[in-house]
Amino acid sequence: MTSEILQLHDITYSYHGLAGEIPALSHISFSVKQGEFLAIVGPSGCGKSTLLSMIARLLVPEQGTIAFHNPDDSLEYPKTGYMLQHDHLLEWRTIWKNVTLGLEIAHTETPEALAYAEKLLDDYGLLKFREKHPSELSGGMRQRAALIRTLVTNPEILLLDEPFSALDYQTRLSVSGDIGNIIRTTGKTAILVTHDLSEAISLADRIIILSKRPAHVRREIDVRLTKKDASPLAARSAPEFQSYFNFIWKELSYEK
Ligand code: ADP
Repeated sequence: MTSEILQLHDITYSYHGLAGEIPALSHISFSVKQGEFLAIVGPSGCGKSTLLSMIARLLVPEQGTIAFHNPDDSLEYPKTGYMLQHDHLLEWRTIWKNVTLGLEIAHTETPEALAYAEKLLDDYGLLKFREKHPSELSGGMRQRAALIRTLVTNPEILLLDEPFSALDYQTRLSVSGDIGNIIRTTGKTAILVTHDLSEAISLADRIIILSKRPAHVRREIDVRLTKKDASPLAARSAPEFQSYFNFIWKELSYEK
């Protein structure tokens, strides 16, 4: 049986500011299995990023709990890695110095960790660019470097907040496919927030559809596609793809 790495139960959260209270999340419950690729979709401004921040423990729920089971059986909260729309690579550092930044900060630049960083760069065609600076790389290469920077610290859960939305359509297709493959081959648990329904269907095992703000879970659907290979293009041409798209589109249109 697949174990659950996270169980969110009855999560509720509001922002409090000068303009008053902004309720963002309302009684959200769902679980995430270890090694699963989960996508979260919902109307813009409904609370998706707030939910990811809560899973990353950057925000604390006002109500509700997040129970966890660390795959290594330790009692520590699973280590999370964040990937955002902008790669936030530091221009004054080389690609190598960027991808090893997390190790440097945590003082964990062990030979094994550095060898892993080098292997990831090699696997994803970036090794020969290790001494280049970010502005010398294409948008897609930069996003791959940003993912490698996140992976080298060995997080159990990858939190992906619209990581492809700054890329042009063609690059987006190829980078999302690569990143989907990297995540699957490394066996990581991933939670992707996206407004792109095709991206969610082509990458995820399961999709959570949130309502408008304050977000609650409107639907959870398992995605099962008949496809020739693991590429996102194969997923998009699977016979079931359009029915999933229409179903989610209809669910979201109730929320306008
Ligand atoms: P989404 O990711 O779905 O677009 P967010 O989680 O970013 O939505 O935001 C949910 C709501 O909370 C939005 O209405 C947003 O304006 C509001 N919000 C987000 N961050 C803050 C903040 N730091 N202070 C006040 N309101 C915020």
